[in-house]
Amino acid sequence: MKITVVGSMSTDFVVTTTIKPNQGETVFGEKFATAFGGKGANQAVAASRLGMEVAIAGAVGTDDFGVAILNNLIENGVDVACVERVTHAESGSAHIVLYDNDNSIIVIPAANNEVKPETIKKFTQQLLSSDLVILQNEIPQNTNEAIIDFCWEHGIKTLLNPAPARFIADEYIKKVTYLTPNEHESAIMFPDQSRSEILAKYPNKLVITLGAMGAIYHDGKKEEIVPAFEVQPVDTTGAGDTFNAAMATALLQGLKMSEALRFANLAAAISVQGFGAQGGMPTLEKMKEQSQ
Ligand code: ATP
Repeated sequence: MKITVVGSMSTDFVVTTTIKPNQGETVFGEKFATAFGGKGANQAVAASRLGMEVAIAGAVGTDDFGVAILNNLIENGVDVACVERVTHAESGSAHIVLYDNDNSIIVIPAANNEVKPETIKKFTQQLLSSDLVILQNEIPQNTNEAIIDFCWEHGIKTLLNPAPARFIADEYIKKVTYLTPNEHESAIMFPDQSRSEILAKYPNKLVITLGAMGAIYHDGKKEEIVPAFEVQPVDTTGAGDTFNAAMATALLQGLKMSEALRFANLAAAISVQGFGAQGGMPTLEKMKEQSQ
């Protein structure tokens, strides 16, 4: 089964400090690390580890960070032929300061903002050969809309993980096959409706993730919560990305929604026991071991 992710790729620059600098002040911090991120790249890596044939479309700069991002994707078995290397923007990055068990983050989308609607002409063949196209909200909204329109016209299934939260017109919610906000994103997308109302309005399409509680959807007759696995998380970064990739993988293999969400909960529960967004993402073998 072929998945194409159209989305963001970036490098996380993570600084740990016990002292936060005031304006104009310089301080010594504790640690520095880099990690691969971007919801697009994370979801592509997660689906590939679960055995799917995965390609990613998007953009990085011509800098060394772009080279490292592409190499990491290739090492994880993701096809990067549809990633453009743009000269007029640097590769995407996130600058994270961990201080007192809390974090502050500055995201510079850079090349990720260069995935413009007209660029989809360059990878229409890739979209047409896909069983499912996965999108998030880290590339421009009008590009997502153009891809949803294209896939709708050509009968290609789409999964939109609307993170980070932004308003999405009803027309596009109707056209996507699956929509997977977390609770916070769903409250922003549907401010005037209760959770039960929206779940009933979009049965077997809308899946709301509930963190350590699992996920909830409506099966056409009733609401169902599929509970998460009880684990001791060490780092929940990327839990949502692993969940989305695993849900897509399971649905493409013909599992029913409730079974697919159980599979997604298991993959995400394994991922929160490893460090970094991609560090804990399970392979299919690891999933089999854990489900026995
Ligand atoms: P993130 O932004 O951290 O990647 P998210 O906010 O998009 O995640 P969540 O609803 O927090 O999404 O989590 C997604 C899924 O990850 C949940 O549905 C669940 O399966 C799993 N998960 C998250 N936290 C835990 C936890 N503490 N224990 C077990 N599973 C978890």
